[in-house]
Amino acid sequence: MLEVHDLTVRFGGITALDGVGFGVGRGEMVGLIGPNGAGKTTLFNCLTRRYEPGSGTITYEGGDLTAVAPHAIAGLGIARTFQNLGLFPRLSVRDNVLVGAHHRGRAGFLSAGLRLPGVRREERTLLADADGVLERLGLTGVAGHPATGLPFGTLKRVELARALIGRPRLLLLDEPVNGLNAAEVEEFASTLNALRTEHDLTVIVVEHHMGFVMGICERIVCLDFGRKIAEGPPAEVQRDAGVIEAYLGTA
Ligand code: ATP
Repeated sequence: MLEVHDLTVRFGGITALDGVGFGVGRGEMVGLIGPNGAGKTTLFNCLTRRYEPGSGTITYEGGDLTAVAPHAIAGLGIARTFQNLGLFPRLSVRDNVLVGAHHRGRAGFLSAGLRLPGVRREERTLLADADGVLERLGLTGVAGHPATGLPFGTLKRVELARALIGRPRLLLLDEPVNGLNAAEVEEFASTLNALRTEHDLTVIVVEHHMGFVMGICERIVCLDFGRKIAEGPPAEVQRDAGVIEAYLGTA
C-alpha cells in the first residue's frame, strides 16, 4: 500500500530524515519508534505532504504521493492524528469531528456552519456518519460540548473520531496514548484493534509507550537521528542491540 524509498529531509544543517525506506502492506499495523528528534513526526509530515522531502520517493496505492497537493491527501484516504491535539477548543465535539470530513464534497462545509443549497442528502449522510463515529467512540454524551474543558482521554478519542470520519484507508497516529492512564491505554488498544477490522484500516503508529506499540503492531521500524536502524517483528526489534542502545535502554 505504501512504499517509502530513500527519503531525506533537511532543515538547514539538521538532517531530520536520512535515506529512510520501508514498506507497509494493506491491513498492516506498523509501529514507528525512536528517541526524541529521530524524525518520526517529520515522516508523517512527508506522508501528509506538509513537508517536501529533499529527495526520495513515496508511493501510495501505486501512485507518486509527492506529486499530490497537501489538500488532496484526505481525499486519497490518508488521515492522521496529532501529537499535540489539533482540536478547535470552542467548537463542539461534533463540529471538531466534522472538520475531518472537509474533503467529502460540499457536505464538508457543514463543519464551518455553512448550509449550501442542494447538499441536503450529503448533509444527512455525513451527519449520520458523524453520529455513528461519535457513538462508536463513546462520545455521544459530549457531542454538543465544546472541546475545551473535556478530559484529555476524551479529547484523544475526538481526534481519532475526526480521523475516522474522513473514511481513511491509511491512518497515521502520532502518539495516540501519550498522557493516558494504564486503563485508558488498554481501552484504546482494544478499540483500535476492533476499528482496524471494522474499517479495513492500515495503520502506522508513532508511540513512546513500548507496551502499547509492541503489543499492537505486527512490525516495528526504529529511527535514530533520521536513519532507520532496525525493522522487524516487535520481539526481534526489542532484542536488537542497536535499538536498545539508541532508545530502549533509556525509554
Ligand atoms: P519526538 O519523539 O520528540 O516527537 P520525532 O522523532 O517526531 O521526535 P521530529 O519532530 O520529526 O522527531 O524531528 C526530527 C528533527 O527535525 C529534530 O531535530 C527537529 O528539531 C527537526 N525538525 C522537525 N521539524 C522541523 C521544522 N519545521 N523546522 C526545523 N527543524 C525541524
